[in-house]
Amino acid sequence: MIRQYWGYDEFRPLQRRAMANVVAGRDSVVVLPTGGGKSLIFQAPALLPEGPREQQGLAVVISPLISLMKDQVDGLLASGVPAAYFNSTLTVQQRRAVRAELEAGTYRLLYVAPERLAGAPGQEFRQLLRRSGVRYIAIDEAHCISQWGHDFRPDYRLLGELRDAFPRAAMHAFTATASQRVRQDIAEQLHLRQPEMLVGSFDRPNLTYRVFYRSSFQQQLRRVLERHQGEAGIIYCISRKEVERVAARLVGWGYSALPYHAGLDGETRHRNQEEFLNERVDVVVATVAFGMGIDRSNVRFVVHAGSPRSVEHYQQESGRAGRDGLAAECVLFYSAGDFMTWRRLMEGEGQLSDSANHLLNQMQNYAAATRCRHKALVEYFDQPYEADSCAACDWCLGELERIEDSLVVARKILSCVYRVRQRFGVGHVVDVLRGRATAKVRARSHDELSTFGLLENLPVAELRGYVEQLVDQGFLEQVGAPYPTLSGTESGLRLLKAEEDCLLFRQHRPEPAQRQRRRAGEGSRATTTSEGESWQGVDRGLFDKLREARLELAREREVPPYLIFHDSTLRDMARRRPSSETSMLGIYGVGDKKAKNFGPIFLSVIRDYCQSHLLRTDAY
Ligand code: ADP
Ligand code: MG
Ligand code: ZN
Repeated sequence: MIRQYWGYDEFRPLQRRAMANVVAGRDSVVVLPTGGGKSLIFQAPALLPEGPREQQGLAVVISPLISLMKDQVDGLLASGVPAAYFNSTLTVQQRRAVRAELEAGTYRLLYVAPERLAGAPGQEFRQLLRRSGVRYIAIDEAHCISQWGHDFRPDYRLLGELRDAFPRAAMHAFTATASQRVRQDIAEQLHLRQPEMLVGSFDRPNLTYRVFYRSSFQQQLRRVLERHQGEAGIIYCISRKEVERVAARLVGWGYSALPYHAGLDGETRHRNQEEFLNERVDVVVATVAFGMGIDRSNVRFVVHAGSPRSVEHYQQESGRAGRDGLAAECVLFYSAGDFMTWRRLMEGEGQLSDSANHLLNQMQNYAAATRCRHKALVEYFDQPYEADSCAACDWCLGELERIEDSLVVARKILSCVYRVRQRFGVGHVVDVLRGRATAKVRARSHDELSTFGLLENLPVAELRGYVEQLVDQGFLEQVGAPYPTLSGTESGLRLLKAEEDCLLFRQHRPEPAQRQRRRAGEGSRATTTSEGESWQGVDRGLFDKLREARLELAREREVPPYLIFHDSTLRDMARRRPSSETSMLGIYGVGDKKAKNFGPIFLSVIRDYCQSHLLRTDAY
């Protein structure tokens, strides 16, 4: 059935087990990373023949993302699944129509906004659903119900009532948020009955992670963009001002880019998002306001112009890259000032709790760490990471350079920290070491210290990097908020006495200008999980032609291109070059309905291309 409607040959990890729960009517909490394929888990079982009384009716999907409901439903309709959505964007007439179809039992799936179902205003709609029968309820982005989650929504709180309103329907919660506490909270808030907790692996092997200390940001950014000409990307900035600045710069450089932040009026925001989803624009420059559930699957790069405020945020935001399973790049530019900025912002809003501080420190540790990024991320979420090398991060790719005299540099830094009596932050210590007689330095007579100017030939970004590495490695610690001071630890003292050794890395070696972008399937761990997911054997010219055809179709139908076919599907077509509807059905991601509706158009593109390029059809 999944083959027939979705054109997929195999399940992604945990999909089968999670679907078994849905079919059996057992409550569950499913935690899979962004792009893990959660939707299929609650969509596919809705198509199974109806069973005994408690297995009848339609599947109700609750999602906080009104703008995405239409896309998901359009996608289902394109695959031949009877589905609809019900939210505030519908006109009175459209609502009436959906109600009538509900009474008639037309749909197998219904997407609903939380506020339509909950509380007194949702009463009437709940009754209607009870009449038409509810087979199970899927709650997407379920972390929104938890105050511990990073995206709490008061609307979601009311969903706790659903258990009483639909005692027979099983409930399934879906989220990409890993924290144990949030998971537990979801189960409690929703009154789940002995739910099975399924937690998938948090590793995203197709993503390549790189971290750079931000120095000459414009040049740094350009180098990333040059690796991704014509591809889709998201650039996250901390402030609105920076969003505007970076977006304008990109346009100046000739890229198609739009800004997105909460300061824009709703209409502009919506329009910019649509432009991006519909592939009329390549790059969105945004604050964190952008992206929850962003469904464009072929995002090839995510850049952070500044550090996010937690590793959770980083995982979520960088996770928007490569949802189609193809290789994508995530680049984090950070500076120590970012963490100050966050502390200041949060303090201003009265949100700088101990836990917020702790999350910031952990994010800083991640950024400064000199070890495998995949391993660091996975272990952060309390999962083991077995591989020795991921072959997909700056560390494992050997892009970080070990410095010869690590111990000497480390000892100079440490002794300076002690000389200023462990009362100053990174910036000041760096100033003293580099021999900058700033007003603050002179006022404290720190220009008279023996450590003044001890490392005067090091660029500021590099020196800051070393200080942070020493923090990360536990030789130094940062104490106090919002302006933490540096102090030595016990192992720092041992290092100073040369009783311990350490290694420092030059993290900020200029990026290799045209480093070959890694593709999944090029002999790395990020090897293909399926035919559709690599470039091997793919004719790039044909792929581009197929993309054009897809774009044209998408515009005609006013849907985002990925709803027609994913990139991975087009790649498979450009590799195998089917010549008939039958061989088209063998392509990854082509189900019956799509083969019928779109097949002829793509078949003719393939035929023409193969004729003019003397290529064999039905290859491989
Ligand atoms: P999530 O909601 O977990 O972030 P989605 O449900 O949006 O992820 O799925 C991500 C992408 O993976 C979608 O493009 C979807 O069509 C695709 N996908 C899901 N399941 C499979 C599968 N078994 N095989 C291939 N592709 C899949
Ligand atoms: Mg999803
Ligand atoms: Zn690695």
